[in-house]
Amino acid sequence: MVERSENSETLRAQMIQTQIIARGIRDEAVLRAMQSVPRELFVPDKHRGQAYDDKALPVGPGQTISQPFIVAYMSHKLQVESGHRVLEVGTGTGYQTAILAQLSGDVYTVELDAALSRLAAQRLERLGLCRHVVFRSGDGVVACRDAAPFDRILVTAGSESIPEQLVSQLAENGLMIIPVGRGKTQMMLRIRMRKGVRVEQSLLACRFVPLIDTGGCSGQPEG
Ligand code: SAH
Repeated sequence: MVERSENSETLRAQMIQTQIIARGIRDEAVLRAMQSVPRELFVPDKHRGQAYDDKALPVGPGQTISQPFIVAYMSHKLQVESGHRVLEVGTGTGYQTAILAQLSGDVYTVELDAALSRLAAQRLERLGLCRHVVFRSGDGVVACRDAAPFDRILVTAGSESIPEQLVSQLAENGLMIIPVGRGKTQMMLRIRMRKGVRVEQSLLACRFVPLIDTGGCSGQPEG
């Protein structure tokens, strides 16, 4: 990892112990990834002192960086293996992308806001994590259809319903995690495709910023 600061490493170790392991997540690969990514590089300057707090932080209008526990929880429940092709919808700061990039060498991530997407790409570049990540800006529900099927799909914004266009991009035995709900809170669902049949499981109540429905406008590759 490029960024090394004793203080930051210690804060990360504490975060992992008190917020993640204490809540029952012992997934070694996920914990290693969380330990290696300096979260303070992903939060705005004015919130930097809170980078390791047990909460989501605002990073712009309609955008947040998710609570560390939620990032660890979703990464764990997604059961990512190194050979998996992974799609993330809602790049945001790129923090979750950085974790996924450590778990799989083949990540596509899509963000509606092109400026955010570029910033996230720069952060991952600085950390040396860009090699296996394709950044695109556009509507994540449709922007990577050309790269489907995906073994894993992670949606980090709340959707009013399950987007069928995303489900159709899941590979056989694929898993998708998506927060679904019409109010301010959603239910995090895990959807598994098995022999063409879709099995849904409710994981936990959560609160994400909304997944914007663009009506299927595709996106441009960001490099
Ligand atoms: N995973 C992020 C948090 C994402 S917040 C992190 O770790 O920082 C949700 C993001 O989804 C916002 O940045 C928002 O702009 C984006 N978004 C909302 N609707 C979208 C859509 N249809 N396609 C792609 N991105 C979308």
